[in-house]
Amino acid sequence: MTPVDRLLANQALLEALPQPAWLVALASQRVLAVNSAAAALLGQPAAALVGADAQALATSPEDLAWWAEVGFGDVGTLDSDTVIGLTDGRSLPCRRSIRLLAESGREGGVLAPTQALVSLHDRRDELEQRARSDELNAALQATLEATADGILVVDAQGRLRACNRRFVQLWGLPDLVANDNGVADASGVADSARWLAGLTQRVADPLAYAEGLAALRADPHAEAQDTLVLRDGRTLDRVTRPLRIGERVRGRVFCFRDLTERIVAEQRIDCLSRQDALTGLANRAALAERVAKATSACTAVAEGSGRAVEGGGFALLVIDLDRFRQVNDSLGHDSGNAVLRLAADRMQACLRGDDFIARIGGDSFAVMLSGGDANGAETTARRMLGAVAQPCEVGGSPFTLTCSIGIALAPSHGQTLDDLLHHAEAAMRAVKDGGRANVRLHQVRGRGDRRSQIRLDHAMRQALVSNRFRLHYQPQVSLADGRLLGAEALIRWRDPEHGEVPPGRFIPVAEESGFIVAIGDWVLSQAVRQATLWMQRGHPIKIAVNVSALQFQQPQFVERVASVLAVSGLAPELLELELTESILVRDAEDALQRLHALSRLGVRLAIDDFGTGYSSLGYLKRFPLDKLKIDRSFISGLPTAESDAAIVRAILQMADALGLKVVAEGVETEAQRAFLQACGCDGFQGWLYAPALDALSFEERLVGARSEPHPPDSTLAEGPRIRLVR
Ligand code: C2E
Ligand code: MG
Ligand code: MG
Repeated sequence: MTPVDRLLANQALLEALPQPAWLVALASQRVLAVNSAAAALLGQPAAALVGADAQALATSPEDLAWWAEVGFGDVGTLDSDTVIGLTDGRSLPCRRSIRLLAESGREGGVLAPTQALVSLHDRRDELEQRARSDELNAALQATLEATADGILVVDAQGRLRACNRRFVQLWGLPDLVANDNGVADASGVADSARWLAGLTQRVADPLAYAEGLAALRADPHAEAQDTLVLRDGRTLDRVTRPLRIGERVRGRVFCFRDLTERIVAEQRIDCLSRQDALTGLANRAALAERVAKATSACTAVAEGSGRAVEGGGFALLVIDLDRFRQVNDSLGHDSGNAVLRLAADRMQACLRGDDFIARIGGDSFAVMLSGGDANGAETTARRMLGAVAQPCEVGGSPFTLTCSIGIALAPSHGQTLDDLLHHAEAAMRAVKDGGRANVRLHQVRGRGDRRSQIRLDHAMRQALVSNRFRLHYQPQVSLADGRLLGAEALIRWRDPEHGEVPPGRFIPVAEESGFIVAIGDWVLSQAVRQATLWMQRGHPIKIAVNVSALQFQQPQFVERVASVLAVSGLAPELLELELTESILVRDAEDALQRLHALSRLGVRLAIDDFGTGYSSLGYLKRFPLDKLKIDRSFISGLPTAESDAAIVRAILQMADALGLKVVAEGVETEAQRAFLQACGCDGFQGWLYAPALDALSFEERLVGARSEPHPPDSTLAEGPRIRLVR
């Protein structure tokens, strides 16, 4: 081949190469041939480049060193990424390769190389793309670091691709080295499989965790959210989605959030919402839950056995501290709180592990005792009474606290908290009315009873509208001189359906339904109207009206009395209100205010059925009372029953000391009257003198008596027809 032929052949070969390339004669280090791609890159016609110095054409320091070496022997191939300086001063990042070309000898052997082929692979696009991708990755990583959640990205094979610092922190993994951008560099993790396996060791249930991961791997498209509990007790919320690039799933992204604080806060809120802050006991809401749970268990037992429940029941005790308000008012709120805490501790100490105690109101507590038997409940209740009543010291003062307890049994008395509380509270109130510091079990009325009560209540309401009530008047007589002291107005009701219904039967029903307020109001206005009539006819007589506790507690009660008096024009001292001891006991401060208001009106105040409730000397001293009416239960045994006689004498002495008048109720015999007279009792009321009389009969008697003094012995002879009952 001639040199020209060889040149042409080389040129054709170079043109076949896609990248810029040129041939250099090693001996002269001059360019022999250049392809058009190289001419275009170098910006000169190929012809102008032929003969150019190879070292001046496109070189880097590495190239220069190679060209310098090549004259001294075999330097091999130069193949590397570099930046080439072009003749026009530009720099070109490229992959440059310089290979030595040797011709074959005639016998097929290889001759020493005489030429070098220089080829360039332009890397500008590639580098630009990589820079763009690095930039994107940095932005992505910075975004990952900016989120509060821990993020983990794994590839389709489950190998670590990326994660942020929060992830490392959440899982308590060895920290990752930060890269140049200051973000965690997952690529620094040498053994990512081992690193990820570290996660499994940190979860509380590694088996379930591993199974979960296997399921996710089996379904690369799955999205899921669940919670993981770690061994250190923390709870993580985990959300996972497939990592899609285009249509293909390339891996999976996990997002972890620490729920521990939230769960703890929620638990705390939940706990607080069921707890009484002062005593640390459960509160009413928690009790409601307990009762609901227990009653549903009762029902399940009942349904399971197909018969009435005997097992599975429970007792609900309502415990109310006695006169707590006095403690609060006299010793202050701090001491009041201390008393509540003390009472709570003492009561709690009486309970067994499965019993439940809650504070359900200011000074009232409820206890649920498993096992619904009355005896067991009463035994525990008495133990609590004893424990609470242990002397204590509050605010430096020695002090004895008592409580009153009502008991209802589930399921026999009720199935819901409302029902059970209603019954237990009513029983507790009965204890209070009866003198406090005791225990009482709810008394069940038969269904028939309840139905007849409802009928009676309805009939009562009809009776009021149809004007079927009447008032009778029972005289009260002076024991000293037989003078008429006054009369007690007593309600009477004859019903077309029920016949003559005694007040002892319908008054309690009216008290329970609240209708007593309307009845009492009618009695008050009717009695005042009658007394006014008698006053206007020249027979001023004091009329006593029974006032029920509920009526007394009506906010407008005092105003109502004042207005009835004002409308009628009755002299206020001719009206006497008979109140029960329970009125004084229940809310002493409020009662005191009302009684003073009534007293200021000029109305007289008497305590009815005295001795059956709870009244102490010191207590009565505070109230502006005029009269005590000794309950007839103390009178019936007179004069022989020694205890009754002693009680009556004590009441008389006490009343004397307090400057109160005393009237004895239910005097039926002359012996009773004589005893009372001898003891210095002021007056009496009873069948011995007269039963309650209708207004007309009473008026006849009034006109006859003219309130003149009578010698005691002539009273009977002159009185109306007297029924003696023994
Ligand atoms: P109370 O206020 O203690 O009334 C006295 C009761 O004793 C009356 O019964 C009266 O009839 C009865 N009584 C009077 N003398 C004798 C006697 O010598 N022997 C016997 N065994 N009993 C005698 P009553 O009228 O049946 O009333 C019963 C209760 O009903 C009253 O007891 C009172 O608590 C209540 N009540 C009657 N009327 C009213 C009223 O208008 N309003 C209110 N809230 N309660 C009333
Ligand atoms: Mg009375
Ligand atoms: Mg009475």
